[in-house]
Amino acid sequence: GASGAVTHFVAIKADVSARRQAEEALSAAHRELAARVAEIESLNEQLRERAIRDPLTGLHNRRYFEETAGRDAARAVRTGEPLAVLVIDIDHFKTVNDKHGHAAGDLVLRVLAEILTAGVRDSDLVCRIGGEEFVVLLPGAAMEVAFERAEAVRAEFAATPIDPGDGSEIRSTVSVGVAVFRGEGESHEAALGRADAALYQAKRAGRNRVVAVADAPPSVV
Ligand code: GH3
Ligand code: MG
Ligand code: MG
Repeated sequence: GASGAVTHFVAIKADVSARRQAEEALSAAHRELAARVAEIESLNEQLRERAIRDPLTGLHNRRYFEETAGRDAARAVRTGEPLAVLVIDIDHFKTVNDKHGHAAGDLVLRVLAEILTAGVRDSDLVCRIGGEEFVVLLPGAAMEVAFERAEAVRAEFAATPIDPGDGSEIRSTVSVGVAVFRGEGESHEAALGRADAALYQAKRAGRNRVVAVADAPPSVV
């Protein structure tokens, strides 16, 4: 009023509870959606893992090997670093299964997988590519180092008695073929093929041994 006394108050009010509720519902929906997305991402990751892993040994499988080996070979060409390939096959594995049962055979596969992965470097790749067949890729390893690794695996596996839990003891061995990728001009499949040929020689020579093939390309006369 003219004297300065307050005579009235004026206020504008709106009921915002509906808007609040809507906002809260929206942010709850957002949180729910984010949780769902995280769940889907984790499921995708699990599916991907399942697709590239062998459930028995936990090693990578052939599919993963095929995805990766080409990249490792390309890197070896680019950097000029060597790349060794080991192919490992259990000797007379059918006899192990026949004598001790399939579960005991599975145990032998797991023991070998453990020996193969012990002391590997991050860049090394250990895969179970078939029933009782494994491949190890060693980036940076030339023939001498690769041969030593193969021989160490062979010796350790041969020296490891396996207990199938039925009172018996399994002694198993492996044969190993070793090749070193020739770089430019060779495919990783060709290097794997040479390692396979070396493995075949190891089998023919009596098993429980490592055979390496020369890493120089055959000279043309
Ligand atoms: P060689 O010394 O020439 O390699 O003889 P081998 O008996 O090991 O070779 P062969 O290829 O004849 O036998 C492989 C066996 O591996 C046959 C198959 O029943 C067995 N096998 C393949 N996958 C599995 C598996 O996941 N678990 C078990 N327990 N056995 C398997
Ligand atoms: Mg075999
Ligand atoms: Mg085989």
